[in-house]
Amino acid sequence: MTNTKQVCDLCGLDIELSSFTLKTKEGDKAFCCEGCKGIYQLLNEDQILPEPNQN
Ligand SMILES: [Zn+2]
Repeated sequence: MTNTKQVCDLCGLDIELSSFTLKTKEGDKAFCCEGCKGIYQLLNEDQILPEPNQN
Protein backbone atom coordinates (compact mmCIF):
# COMPACT_ATOMS: atom_id res chain seq x y z
CA MET A 1 0.00 0.00 0.00
CA THR A 2 1.44 3.30 -1.03
CA ASN A 3 1.01 6.13 1.38
CA THR A 4 2.57 9.06 -0.37
CA LYS A 5 1.44 12.20 1.30
CA GLN A 6 1.06 15.12 -1.02
CA VAL A 7 2.11 18.58 -0.01
CA CYS A 8 0.78 21.83 -1.32
CA ASP A 9 2.93 23.23 -4.14
CA LEU A 10 2.38 26.74 -2.88
CA CYS A 11 2.55 26.74 0.91
CA GLY A 12 4.01 23.28 1.54
CA LEU A 13 1.29 22.10 3.92
CA ASP A 14 0.12 18.50 3.87
CA ILE A 15 -2.86 17.90 1.64
CA GLU A 16 -5.42 16.04 3.73
CA LEU A 17 -8.58 16.32 1.69
CA SER A 18 -9.07 15.83 -2.00
CA SER A 19 -6.51 18.05 -3.57
CA PHE A 20 -6.96 20.99 -5.83
CA THR A 21 -4.90 20.27 -8.89
CA LEU A 22 -3.64 22.21 -11.85
CA LYS A 23 -2.00 20.99 -15.01
CA THR A 24 1.07 23.01 -15.88
CA LYS A 25 3.88 22.79 -18.40
CA GLU A 26 6.04 21.46 -15.56
CA GLY A 27 3.56 18.72 -14.65
CA ASP A 28 0.65 18.35 -12.29
CA LYS A 29 0.58 20.63 -9.28
CA ALA A 30 -1.50 19.98 -6.18
CA PHE A 31 -2.71 22.44 -3.57
CA CYS A 32 -4.26 22.26 -0.14
CA CYS A 33 -7.05 24.70 -0.85
CA GLU A 34 -8.73 26.79 -3.52
CA GLY A 35 -6.84 29.86 -2.29
CA CYS A 36 -3.40 28.36 -2.88
CA LYS A 37 -4.48 27.14 -6.27
CA GLY A 38 -5.74 30.59 -7.19
CA ILE A 39 -2.54 32.31 -6.09
CA TYR A 40 -0.39 29.83 -7.98
CA GLN A 41 -2.55 30.39 -11.05
CA LEU A 42 -2.02 34.15 -10.81
CA LEU A 43 1.73 33.83 -10.35
CA ASN A 44 2.23 31.24 -13.09
CA GLU A 45 -0.38 32.15 -15.66
CA ASP A 46 1.88 31.30 -18.58
CA GLN A 47 2.59 27.85 -17.16
CA ILE A 48 -0.99 26.74 -16.76
CA LEU A 49 -2.41 24.36 -19.31
CA PRO A 50 -6.09 24.60 -20.21
CA GLU A 51 -8.43 22.17 -18.47
CA PRO A 52 -10.36 20.32 -21.18
CA ASN A 53 -13.29 19.43 -18.92
CA GLN A 54 -13.77 22.88 -17.48
CA ASN A 55 -15.74 25.38 -19.42
ZN1 LIG B 1 -1.51 25.54 0.40
